[in-house]
This record gives sequence, structure tokens and C-alpha cells, in this order.
Amino acid sequence: MSAIILNGKELAAQMETAQAQRVRDLQARGVSPKLVVVMAGDNPASAIYVRNKARACERLGILSDTIHLPQTVSQQELLRVIDGLNADPTVHGILIQLPLPEHLDEDAALLRVNPAKDVDGFHLYNAGRLLRGEDGIRPCTPQGIVRLLKSAGIALDGARAVVIGRSNIVGKPAALMLTQENCTVTLCHSHTRDLAQITRQADILVAAVGKPRFVTADMVKPGAAVIDVGINRVEDASAKRGYRIVGDVAYDEVAPKCRAITPVPGGVGPMTIAMLMANTVKACRQQTGA
Ligand code: NAD
Repeated sequence: MSAIILNGKELAAQMETAQAQRVRDLQARGVSPKLVVVMAGDNPASAIYVRNKARACERLGILSDTIHLPQTVSQQELLRVIDGLNADPTVHGILIQLPLPEHLDEDAALLRVNPAKDVDGFHLYNAGRLLRGEDGIRPCTPQGIVRLLKSAGIALDGARAVVIGRSNIVGKPAALMLTQENCTVTLCHSHTRDLAQITRQADILVAAVGKPRFVTADMVKPGAAVIDVGINRVEDASAKRGYRIVGDVAYDEVAPKCRAITPVPGGVGPMTIAMLMANTVKACRQQTGA
């Protein structure tokens, strides 16, 4: 069987073209969508993610700003910055880059963001709306997963979906969004017994674990669609930087078995950024009525 490669890079580029047109339409009505990223400290991975988000904004014509707070910033100061952005009508999207330094209360920071500007969809209000199946701002990575599956014509209605990983940013919202699409969903995690027996029943298998080669061929049903969310660095002396990025799925042995599969890199990652851009444009339209 030769698997369809779910090319997130290509789909994200198509989405960007459509979003860029929406941005131009807004600008023609005198509205400039703006995203502000708040980061604290010097986490090198966060710095790369923030740069990628700023570049995407630039490509689409979305205004963007990064507020880079020192590692030692107090909770009070962080909340004051968020309050300022909430009150600024020229800012439509606010993103708190995680993780924050350990002394800071992440949940309190996320809760402080005006839910209308919460373009990551991490605020309890938006999480609650997702749980209830009501319209709201959805987390970017799970949105990207559903979009990739739909773009390849994978039937979701009535499909058996298994999600491995129960984080608030990927696993849980992915399970809820697939439920919303009428999949029958099983959410697995580190305490799940007989994981392989469960994953082998999946028409759609989502891996969001953070462990290289975690999903092996024996865990996958022939003909399944496999979505690999993992971003893991593995040492590789032959690579330019001494490491390469791999997902959670043993791609070489799983791909020949399945109907569709996401590569890493180039699968879910670019879709996450494309969805962030879409959320920012949507938030801007809703706030301005434009
Ligand atoms: P996390 O560490 O918060 O959650 C990992 C989950 O895996 C946990 O719920 C845990 O229960 C589960 N798990 C761990 N060991 C397990 C086991 N042996 N069996 C079953 N389940 C097990 O991670 P996260 O934030 O959800 O991210 C997961 C991965 O996705 C990471 O590699 C992360 O870098 C990546 N990620 C990618 C994107 C993207 O845009 N592609 C976005 C977010 C996260």
C-alpha cells in the first residue's frame, strides 16, 4: 500500500494565500490585524517558535510584535503587560509563549488574556466552549490535524479515532475536536493498559507523546490514517546541526502500512502556524466587526 503523504507544508501555504487575501480585505476597510507574542526568559526552542510566528505574520501582512520579558519578570508585571494588551484596541491576538519560567503561574497568565484575543485557544472560556461544542477559538495544533485529515478526504464521521497523549494543548482538544467531527474517540495516556491493542483498532491514530519511534508498525491497523504530532530532537552526527527532528512515529515501518501519514517535519508543524494566523484574522474580524 502506498500511503498518501499529508503534506502540511503545502496545505499551510495554500491557507496562507487565502488568509493573506482576507488580511488585504480587512486593510481595505481600514483594519490591520495584529498579533502580540509575550515571551519571558531565554528558552532557545521558544525563541525559534516565536521567530517562526513573526515570519508567518510578515508573509501574510499581519502586524506583529514580541514583548520579550526578562527571565526574572514578576507575575505582577506579566499580568500588567497582559492587561495592557487586553485594553489595546489595535491588538487582536495575544499569545503567551509557553513554557514560562518556573516561578511564574502559567494558568493565571493564560486566564488573564481576554478570551476574544486568545488566539491559542487555551483560555478556560474557549476550552469550555470546545467541550460544549460551541463556536469559539480552537487550539491551533488540533485544528491543523482535523484540517489535514479533511483535505485528504479521510472520512471522519463514524471513524474510530485513537489519540495518544492527554495534554491540554494537543491531546485533549484533539480528542474533543474529533468527537465534534463524529469520530468515536479513545484518549490514551501514560497509564493506559494494552495500548497497542487499542491503537490497532484506530482508523485515525494521533500520536502526541514526545517520544521518538513510540508508534511502531505493530500498533497500527492496515489502512489507518496516522497523524504524528511529535517534535523530538535526536542526535545525528551527519546532520548540519548535529541533530535532526523526528516525530513520535517510526515512519519508515509505519508508512507502508497506512492509508495516509504526516511527515515530520512538514506535517502538523506548519499547519499549527497556519491555524494561528487564521485564528488571528478571525479574532480581528470578530472584534472589529469588519
Ligand atoms: P506533553 O508532554 O504535555 O504530553 C505528553 C502526553 O503523552 C501525556 O499526556 C502522557 O500521558 C502521554 N504519554 C507519555 N508516555 C506515554 C506512554 N508510554 N504511553 C501512552 N501515553 C504516554 O506533550 P504535548 O505538549 O502534548 O506534546 C506532545 C508532542 O507534540 C511533543 O513532542 C511536542 O513537542 C509536540 N508538539 C508539536 C506541535 C506541532 O505543532 N507539531 C505542537 C505542540 C506539541
